[in-house]
Amino acid sequence: MRQRNDLLIAGTYLISMDPAIADIPRADILVRAGQIVDVGPHVPGREIGEAQVIDAAGTMTLPGFVDTHWHLWNSLLRGTVGDRPGADYFTVKRALARHFKLGDFYWAARLGLAEAASGGITTVHNFDHNVRGPQDADANIQAHLDSGLRGRFSYGPPDSASPESTNDLDDLVRLRARWPSDHLDGRLDFGVALRGPYRTPPEVYEREWKTARSLGLPITMHCDRCLREEDCRSCGLTRLEELGLLGEDVQVIHAVHASEQDIEALARTRTRVSLSPMTEMRTMGFPLLTELLEAGVQVSLSLDTLAMPTSADILGHLRTIVSVETARTGSGTVTPRRLLQLATIDGAKDLGLQDVVGSVTPGKRADLVILRASDINLVPAGDPAEALVYTGQIDNIDTVIADGRILKRHGRLEFDEDDKDPVAMAVACRDALLRRAAAAGDWH
Ligand SMILES: [Zn+2]
Repeated sequence: MRQRNDLLIAGTYLISMDPAIADIPRADILVRAGQIVDVGPHVPGREIGEAQVIDAAGTMTLPGFVDTHWHLWNSLLRGTVGDRPGADYFTVKRALARHFKLGDFYWAARLGLAEAASGGITTVHNFDHNVRGPQDADANIQAHLDSGLRGRFSYGPPDSASPESTNDLDDLVRLRARWPSDHLDGRLDFGVALRGPYRTPPEVYEREWKTARSLGLPITMHCDRCLREEDCRSCGLTRLEELGLLGEDVQVIHAVHASEQDIEALARTRTRVSLSPMTEMRTMGFPLLTELLEAGVQVSLSLDTLAMPTSADILGHLRTIVSVETARTGSGTVTPRRLLQLATIDGAKDLGLQDVVGSVTPGKRADLVILRASDINLVPAGDPAEALVYTGQIDNIDTVIADGRILKRHGRLEFDEDDKDPVAMAVACRDALLRRAAAAGDWH
């Protein structure tokens, strides 16, 4: 585990995302053993003991961003998916998924998580829908621990699994014995990624739901198809409610075709929704962000996949979302500050981490993003939250701290000396993957 010092972040403009603290124009944040212990107005020469001082004058500090649905395994596929015929995401994924080896899973996750860290995302929910064996799950978990980030690993089936086969439920039971909580550094928990009634028959999803609930594991599921064929005017979520498949322990992803009744079912059952606006607009339709928020649904945001392709440029994504929602609905529900909330504390709530991260609050863990407020695209200054969403860039990120460890400093990712460069390793894995797939006649 990489080194961790006590830290004093001195003199930053704090956007705490905690209503009781709000913004503090010149704030100090004191971090001990990875925990935020004090937040308050800047005091020059503050007594801090051995803490390392980060002079943060001229910066803004936010809680680390939280991503609630990301298929880290297919980060290696960025660059192979495109707009040519036969190069769409689903065709490429199907062709290459079976050629992944253990090291590919590890370095794909490390690549995605390194890009997350670079973009200020300090928590990632890894929705793994290509677990080809228990060791693949272990490789993903190890990659997550080595990355320094926080998150959840949700165990899914192998890509292109038969609808009749269940997830490896036996391995799911074994998972927690293999990874007891004291091996997880307090940064990772587990969930289960299910295909549900959209892709599997009742005997499969009923067994999977029952097992997940008996193990107390949260469930995540894509809702990107219609349950009934009716020109996709409905997601069939009312039917899922009748079947007892929704609830606070369930995260539904996308739901771009949700009807008014579907949205009411989500709100009524307190089911969580993760929206991935960048990939939804490429392949599915408009995210229904305004409608979901106005109905009181617990919403969070996600990247989905680097393969589509997309990047971990969260400020660019927020800017796109606010523009699309304004154009689409004319409603003022989705404001820059509401978006920052979705990307931080609401993401934490989705993952049950609202008491751990999501705001800069004493007692929470120190997941922090520090941005230079004096960069050309952020001056002259107005409301800092509006500036970040309307004109901010991830290039403005100077420092990223996760669980009190500095992962990015002065605009550069920092790796341990004995760690390999995830970028170089991922590129080598990708090249070898394509050679193996080509030899098998699955790639050209
Ligand atoms: Zn997805």
